[in-house]
Amino acid sequence: MTAKKILMVVCDGVSDRPVKQFEGKTPLQVARKPAMDAVARNGVSGTMDVIAPGVIPGSDTAHLALFGYDPYRVYTGRGPIEAAGAEIPLVEGDVAFRCNFATSDDHMRITDRRAGRIRSGTAELATALSGMKVEDVEVIFKEASEHRAVLVLRGPGLDHRVTEVDPHREGEILKARAESPDAEKTARILNAFVEKSYDILSKHPVNKRREKEGLPPANIILPRGAGSLGELEPLPQRFGMKCAAVAGVTLVKGICRMVGMDVPDVEGATGALDTDYTAKAEAAIGLLEENDLVFINVKAPDIAGHDGDFQGKVLAIENIDMMLGRILESIHEEAVVVLTADHSTPVTVKDHSADPVPVAVSGADSRVDGVRAFDEISAASGAIGRIRGMDLLPIVLGMANRSSKFGA
Ligand code: ZN
Ligand code: ZN
Repeated sequence: MTAKKILMVVCDGVSDRPVKQFEGKTPLQVARKPAMDAVARNGVSGTMDVIAPGVIPGSDTAHLALFGYDPYRVYTGRGPIEAAGAEIPLVEGDVAFRCNFATSDDHMRITDRRAGRIRSGTAELATALSGMKVEDVEVIFKEASEHRAVLVLRGPGLDHRVTEVDPHREGEILKARAESPDAEKTARILNAFVEKSYDILSKHPVNKRREKEGLPPANIILPRGAGSLGELEPLPQRFGMKCAAVAGVTLVKGICRMVGMDVPDVEGATGALDTDYTAKAEAAIGLLEENDLVFINVKAPDIAGHDGDFQGKVLAIENIDMMLGRILESIHEEAVVVLTADHSTPVTVKDHSADPVPVAVSGADSRVDGVRAFDEISAASGAIGRIRGMDLLPIVLGMANRSSKFGA
């Protein structure tokens, strides 16, 4: 048995519900998508509860499940994923937070949660905070896109079980509280850091300049989404595979890095509707030569779903299909191809929903069921049946001759 390569394509949020105005069809049922349908026609299909039946997946927890991890065990909060996205390597005991640069008045009341969506100067502001010590804890702080940033607390006796500082609206800033006795020190350090951030940032030249220009100063940091490194054995160690990913969105890139994938920056892969599909296809083809598993995430269908834009979603699907067609042409059935979504983002809901997603898997010698098209309804009659997200990778590894024997 020769082990086969694996190509996993996740169409973010592509899964949908029937829409009355479009003859009661879903965007997947309306789109012209010969490559996707070929994967369904030449292999096996099914539906998948990505986390569990009735649970609405976030993109972060969903991807962990798609990579074969139990999200309830490895996901402690969004912070560590943001840290991975910002390329801050975490060590055991660290607590990571996602943060906003925000605007506060002199009474610690938030007047703008995003500091006017500040776009420049955040690197200088971050430098002013990073490296400081609060008690015996080191502060690592790095700017991310626009008003976003990442905070990592590093030192003895920390615990991620603290409540948020961010009030999520204008008004009084919240005091972090410990949700477990073990987290009391972390709550104290976090509150002290937020106060210090105001002392330092309100005097910073970048903010003096902003005030002069009539812009809201980015004079305080609002941390949220505390998390620490879960016990997560990276994919290369776990399955002896070299893995790489093509993704545009920072969050997805962060998860891919966290599970041990190589995530090169692909020019033009933006994570927006105008992402460069040809560039993504070429990048994936190149990576398939060097890697055992190549993962692609395309965010566009999720964006169209959140916008309630049926036609936009159809177009995104047809673009992904072109990308997939280009890749399939070049790999000549030598890989096992997996096609699925991380969750449903129905255009009628404009948000994620708990509806199961379709999945199709094909390879040169895979079984073939009666499913002829890749969509939510057709997939439900396929040979895979209804599975959970965590079960997908083991099924695919089996089809790619990469599973190990249990027993004699
Ligand atoms: Zn998603
Ligand atoms: Zn979404």
